[in-house]
Amino acid sequence: MPQPSLIAIDGPVASGKTTVGQCLASKLSYNFLDTGDLYRAVTKLVIDAKVSNNNEVAIAELCNELTLVLSDNQTTRIIAFHQDISEHLHTEIIDSNVSFIARLPKIRSALLDKQRDMAKSGKLIMAGRDIGTVILPHADLKLYIEASAKERARRRWIQYGKHEGLYKTLLTEIERRDHLDSTRPIAPLKPADDSIIIKTDDMSLKATVEYIYHMYCFQE
Ligand code: C5P
Repeated sequence: MPQPSLIAIDGPVASGKTTVGQCLASKLSYNFLDTGDLYRAVTKLVIDAKVSNNNEVAIAELCNELTLVLSDNQTTRIIAFHQDISEHLHTEIIDSNVSFIARLPKIRSALLDKQRDMAKSGKLIMAGRDIGTVILPHADLKLYIEASAKERARRRWIQYGKHEGLYKTLLTEIERRDHLDSTRPIAPLKPADDSIIIKTDDMSLKATVEYIYHMYCFQE
């Protein structure tokens, strides 16, 4: 089996696809794009510019302000209005709005070519919700990483410091976003027919990376 050049990784919120994708990319010396950051970036611009979540035309115009740039460590930075906004995309307000923005058809189509352009030179791992189904249907390897909502909430709860009462909030938020992402009419979250489904409830993310690397990426 030749080493896959374009790798699509999809999966629900907090499934570990970004961490797995980043680790694999660094093992393979490939570039990495987390497409969730693109939707987060548009959402940030919408919030900053106080545009209504329903004003699809204005939001689609904001998408034109986003540029993707590869950094030295082969991850993708997002630039808007001449500023690198990549470190400002994981906030509570973005978390609560991003899945509404991501449902809008004009926004999905405005971001389509930006994602496909990144894949033109190959050797890329792209993570998201619709990479195997819509963005890169011809990817050489398609992975769909999943875990139960409870396990994903548990991982986030540990990551955020195990605060009392937080687990339930995280679980509710994960279930809410899963629902929005998987029930939208355009590019819903789902595995492609030819995806390899990897269930990680009982596997650490490190073990998941090793498994994928040796099973599907490594060539003697
Ligand atoms: O992966 P992350 O949680 O950062 O993604 C944020 C949101 O962006 C998702 O909940 C989803 O609504 C949207 N998204 C999407 N399609 C992608 C990647 C992310 O709709 N390919």
